[in-house]
Amino acid sequence: MADKLKRKCSFCGRAEHEVTLLITGMSGYICDECAAQAFEITKEALRTTKPGRGLDFEKLPKPQEIKSFLDKYVIGQDEAKRYLAVSVYNHYKRLLQPDDEEVEIEKSNIIMVGSTGTGKTLLARTIAKLLHVPFTIVDATVLTEAGYVGEDIESILTRLLQVADYDVTEAERGIVFIDEIDKIARKSDNPSITRDVSGEGVQQGLLKLLEGSVVNVPPQGGRKHPEQKMIPVNTRNILFICGGAFDGIEKKIAQRLNTHVVGYNAASNVYKIDKNNMMQYIAPQDLKSFGLIPEIIGRLPILTYLNPLDREALRNILTEPKNSIIKQYVKLFEMDGVKLQFEPEVYEYVVDKAVEYKLGARGLRSIVETIMMDVMFDIPTSQPETYTVTLDYAKKQLAKTNLSRLQNS
Ligand code: ADP
Repeated sequence: MADKLKRKCSFCGRAEHEVTLLITGMSGYICDECAAQAFEITKEALRTTKPGRGLDFEKLPKPQEIKSFLDKYVIGQDEAKRYLAVSVYNHYKRLLQPDDEEVEIEKSNIIMVGSTGTGKTLLARTIAKLLHVPFTIVDATVLTEAGYVGEDIESILTRLLQVADYDVTEAERGIVFIDEIDKIARKSDNPSITRDVSGEGVQQGLLKLLEGSVVNVPPQGGRKHPEQKMIPVNTRNILFICGGAFDGIEKKIAQRLNTHVVGYNAASNVYKIDKNNMMQYIAPQDLKSFGLIPEIIGRLPILTYLNPLDREALRNILTEPKNSIIKQYVKLFEMDGVKLQFEPEVYEYVVDKAVEYKLGARGLRSIVETIMMDVMFDIPTSQPETYTVTLDYAKKQLAKTNLSRLQNS
C-alpha cells in the first residue's frame, strides 16, 4: 500500500490512487489521461509537419475514378480530363512521399488551352468537388506588377490561405487554378523596350510562385491594408493548373506546322491536318509565339487542350450532365409542382441557334432562358400539372428577341 502511494504520474504528479491507470516506464510513470493527451499532441504535431498529413493513399480516388467523376459533369474533353486526373493523383503521391526518399518526385504544373466556353473552368470547378486538399480559382486578368493598379501576384496565395482557414501547412499543399493565363502574355514576341506592367512583369512574378519558393503573402490580399503582417508560404508543394483561351493561337500552330512540312523530308512528314481543330496540335513553342516567356512554359510541363464544341457536344451539354441546363429547369418547375417537358425538336433548335450565332455552350443557357422567361412568369400562378415546351413556342419566343444581343454574354 505504501508503495502504491509513492507511485505517481511523472507528468501530472497525481498519485496512483487518484488515476484510473498508471503505466510504468523505465524511470517513471504516466497516467491514462496524460497518455491520451500525449497521443493527441503527437497526432497534431505529425499533422502539422507532414505535407501528406491526413491523406490516406488507399482512400484517394484513382485517375480513372477521377475521370469518371468528371464525365458526369463535363461533356467530351477526354484528353484534358485524363491529364488532369493523372496530375491530381500524382500531386497526392508527391505529398505522401517520405522526405528521405532518394528519388524526389517533382511537381508537374499543368496548362490547359482551349477556346472560351469549352469547359476549362467547369473542369476545374468539378475536380475541386472531390479534392482532398485546398483549392481555389483565381483570375490572371487582375494581376499587375507590384506598384501598379491591380492585384499583386502574391494575392493568388491569399485566396488559397483563405480557403485553408489560414492554416499555412494546409495551404502549402493545395491546388490553384489560374484562369485566363493568356491575358498576361507579352503583347509581342519580342521583348519590349517599353514597360509592360500586366504582361512580362507579371509572368516574371508568377515564375517565382510556380517554381517553388517562400513567398510573403498578405493575409487580407490587395494593397489596401499596408499594415497587415505578411505570412510566409512555401509554394514547393502547391500544384498550379493554368487555363487560357489563347485567342488566335491556331494561326501560330498552323504557321509552325506549315514551316515544318517544307524541306527535304516534306513528303514523309506530311500527315493529314484536321483544320477544324488545330488546338490538338498545340506545342510549347506556340505558347512562346503567343507571348508566354520560355521560363513560364518550362514551369508548366504538362500541356493539354480542349476541343471546340461541335453540334453533338452542344446537344449533349444541354441534357446530359448531372446538372445540365434542362435538368435545372425541370427542377425549378418541380418546385412549383409542375412537370416540365420539352419536345425533342426544341433541343435541336436551341443548338442550331447557338451554332448560328456562334454563342457556344454559354449561349445555350441564354437561349433557353429567353424561351422560358414568359412561362416562368406565368406558371407559378396557374400551376398546371404538366407543361410542354413545343418547337413552335420556342420559335415564337426567340423571334421576339434579338438574338445577336446575346452574342457578348
Ligand atoms: P471556359 O472556362 O473554357 O471559358 P467554362 O468552363 O466557363 O468555359 O464554360 C462555360 C459554361 O459552358 C459552363 O458553365 C457550362 O455550363 C458550359 N460548358 C462548356 N463546356 C462544357 C462541357 N464540355 N461540358 C458541359 N458543359 C460545358
